Amino acid sequence: MDKFYFPQETMRITQNPYGNTSHHPHNTGTPKDYPIDCAGVDGGRSAIFCPTEMKVSAIKFCSTNTIWLVSTHKVDTPTFKDYVFMTCTHWNDDDTHIKKHKKVGDIIKKGEIICLEGTDGATANHIHICTGRGYSDNWVKNSKGKWVMVGDNKPPEEVMYRYTKFTTHVMDNGGLKWISTDTDTCSDFFPPRGYFTKGDSGENVRKIDDFFVNKVKGDYFGDYSVAIVKEFQRQNGLEVDGCIGKVTLAKMVEQGFKE
Ligand SMILES: [Zn+2]
Repeated sequence: MDKFYFPQETMRITQNPYGNTSHHPHNTGTPKDYPIDCAGVDGGRSAIFCPTEMKVSAIKFCSTNTIWLVSTHKVDTPTFKDYVFMTCTHWNDDDTHIKKHKKVGDIIKKGEIICLEGTDGATANHIHICTGRGYSDNWVKNSKGKWVMVGDNKPPEEVMYRYTKFTTHVMDNGGLKWISTDTDTCSDFFPPRGYFTKGDSGENVRKIDDFFVNKVKGDYFGDYSVAIVKEFQRQNGLEVDGCIGKVTLAKMVEQGFKE
């Protein structure tokens, strides 16, 4: 499963969602959203990259050009696993990247450039980014007169990781508590607690049982499974706890196990 992460190589957030200037009415009106202004490496126009495959759900050419993108599959975020949306505002009318995928329904692949920072409806090059869970394809004027995104708007630090191999430079984190990660995917193999233990069942437990001994049929992680996992851990110099987590799985994969 892909992780969803901050979409610029250099993080320089010039206004966070809680600022008391132009974003103030965004997060104090009803409904509210949580925009960040991202200004990239300098005063020029840095790129916004697509962190995972996304589909264009809406695009508006107006005084504040905006594109809406929704992930084509569920992704992992710092606070949930689900579909996510992201909007990018202020790109310029002549942005060649936007011209490539300006139709609703167009797919933007992971790693492709969505747009460059711009000044459409802004004084200096930047992109105003909003994020949320699920789907969005529109905005609405809130009680403070600001256009906010329609949907389950969430603060960006709850929706995006900082992927350290991509966003290699942090000039200004906007005062937000970003969760860093050094991988852009996470395993779907484990149950939500992160490891298998006695009492678990299901397709992946069946695979584990098959791996250890073809004689054990069924998909139940029982006493026999625990014993055999402990023996495997002992033989391989691992911590002997009878559970299968990341370390034990890695050793199993080394020896031919396929997730
Ligand atoms: Zn803004």
